[in-house]
Amino acid sequence: VIEIGQPEHSVVTTCAYCGVGCSFKAEMRGDELVRMVPWKDGKANRGHSCVKGRFAWGYATHKERILNPMIREKVTDPWREVSWDEALGHVAREFTRIQAEHGRGAIGGLTSSRCTNEETYLVQKLIRQGFGNNNVDTCARVCHSPTGYGLGQAFGTSAGTQDFDSVEETDVVLVIGANPAAAHPVFASRLKKRLRAGAKLIVIDPRRTETVRSPHVEAAFHLPVQPGTNVAMITALAHVIVTEGLFDEAFIRERCDWSEFEDYAEFVADPRHSPEETERFTGVPAADVRGAARLFAQGGNGSIYYGLGVTEHSQGSTTVMAIANLAMLTGNIGRPGVGVNPLRGQNNVQGSCDMGSFPHELPGYRHISTDAARETFEMLWGVTLDKEPGLRITNMLDAAVEGSFKGLYVQGEDILQSDPDTRHVAAGLAAMDCVVVHDLFLNETANYAHVFLPGSTFLEKDGTFTNAERRINRVRKVMAPRNGFADWEVTQMLAQAMGLDWAYTHPAQIMDEIAMTTPSFAGVSYERLDALGSVQWPCNEAAPEGTPIMHVDGFVRGRGKFIRTEYIPTDERTGPRFPLLLTTGRILSQYNVGAQTRRTANTVWHDEDLLEIHPHDAEQRGIRDGDWVRLASRAGETTLRAEITDRVAPGVVYTTFHHPLTQANVITTDFSDWATNCPEYKVTAVQVAPSNGP
Ligand code: SF4
Repeated sequence: VIEIGQPEHSVVTTCAYCGVGCSFKAEMRGDELVRMVPWKDGKANRGHSCVKGRFAWGYATHKERILNPMIREKVTDPWREVSWDEALGHVAREFTRIQAEHGRGAIGGLTSSRCTNEETYLVQKLIRQGFGNNNVDTCARVCHSPTGYGLGQAFGTSAGTQDFDSVEETDVVLVIGANPAAAHPVFASRLKKRLRAGAKLIVIDPRRTETVRSPHVEAAFHLPVQPGTNVAMITALAHVIVTEGLFDEAFIRERCDWSEFEDYAEFVADPRHSPEETERFTGVPAADVRGAARLFAQGGNGSIYYGLGVTEHSQGSTTVMAIANLAMLTGNIGRPGVGVNPLRGQNNVQGSCDMGSFPHELPGYRHISTDAARETFEMLWGVTLDKEPGLRITNMLDAAVEGSFKGLYVQGEDILQSDPDTRHVAAGLAAMDCVVVHDLFLNETANYAHVFLPGSTFLEKDGTFTNAERRINRVRKVMAPRNGFADWEVTQMLAQAMGLDWAYTHPAQIMDEIAMTTPSFAGVSYERLDALGSVQWPCNEAAPEGTPIMHVDGFVRGRGKFIRTEYIPTDERTGPRFPLLLTTGRILSQYNVGAQTRRTANTVWHDEDLLEIHPHDAEQRGIRDGDWVRLASRAGETTLRAEITDRVAPGVVYTTFHHPLTQANVITTDFSDWATNCPEYKVTAVQVAPSNGP
């Protein structure tokens, strides 16, 4: 029993964990947060929450939080606490020196999907206006960057098409590479309610997840694909729909380019894309694929929800485009109950992408080479912007190893733990002169930092997060920042130390600038958000109260684009030394690398990552349930305990990536999506052997 006092007042704010974006009332007694109560008027959650949002906020007052800036000359030196002035002055001098000695492009920065829209906007502004380059990237690079590319190509906008309410009108739900029961629990509850009311479920996932089968809900079809074969599977579904004449011709003629459709139809109808042919490498029985295709095409309103099991592949962008093809093929776009819906992992992945965090895009997804978009910011900021895209994080690290990239500002991301090929990340960071980590805790990346700037939690700031349904929710300050300053203030102080004349006194002014420069946010203001509770972008003169469903009368790009999606197997192959395929995922109680959830008083949290292995594979290796095992790939190795289960098929193993001791990314490869460099986290050839432990 946890003893709590009676609250004296409350503040409505937004959960800082997953992309559902639940609204909460933070109940306070004086400056002390007593409890978080899900807000019944929150449009994303309607009074519901999961254990993370409700109970896992104790990290805000955890004793390991760093509250004072620190610097050190060499990363082997001990940290020295300094004043904010000294820390920021040091960074400004170092960044200026680096640019004088190595060129304007020798520094860059990373925005965070955990920070607010306003904070993200300021970091990319600092880089573009202050650093004078486009070397900005975001942690969305390693999760949903293929969504941005793929949906942009097919529909003309890089976001999900529906609101969460839409699920209440769906008849058939296709979930691909996502496990909302574990990763998006409040949305999963709404989905389950609809399934219990009679909607049908199809799941494409290598693993029999909690979404496939749970009390009272079972998928009509579970298609357990071999990791890495999503494109072949979705094309096989389209093959059945086209060759059996189940496509929506009226929708395609009215909304899409008919000649592109004809080309696509010819492509998918080729016998090599049939379920019988593709069964050889997807591993899914052809009869199930045919059944699922007929159900999706003929079952009424069909909606598609997907996650990182789609994007984190060498063909992540191709898979997103294949999904868009499937939705257009069946006429499932532009009304309630249908659509293509990426389920975002972090609270503000959508927002960090919206705010211009990629090196090739200004806020609002306008390419940096677009003169009109650049001119908008040039006039406001008084600078000439580089029209060439900057470096992605992988390119920054490559350039660092080569000696031409020397300084990095990392806000709210632990790239050493969350990016692939840990050794390469470490080598890149170690080669830089000035690594600045701006975060709550001394994370793994901070081992390579020269300056640590303490960050603030979502409870200590005003701002907005944008959730997976494009809903812009207010984040409201509940308590004073324990470190003294909200993150947007720290970025502003760094900009001022570098000579910029920024003078924001409240994040509302930053949102006003976003609205002024970004057409899809033109109607967004704190006044409107406070009046309406939240709005979904586009919010502008044509849609002053926002846009719950997109592409209603036409696609943003005009006509929907069918794109041939040729399946190309990943270069990551199994063989005698590495005979099993590893894929990864999440559990309900943890969040990403656990930096926040592990620092809460709650005792329900799992404390280790487990390796799920099929009984057949375990027996072959003499592994018993609970044994330590060594998990090795061509990139590296780690040690963890085995859980023997038939949730995974023979030949496939699975683990989570929540615990720093496991460091699952030590073993993932450096293969990545061809279009966006999103890492191929979901397919790694591995060997598993008994071990005596770490
Ligand atoms: Fe927070 Fe996501 Fe849980 Fe909602 S579902 S409370 S947003 S972690």
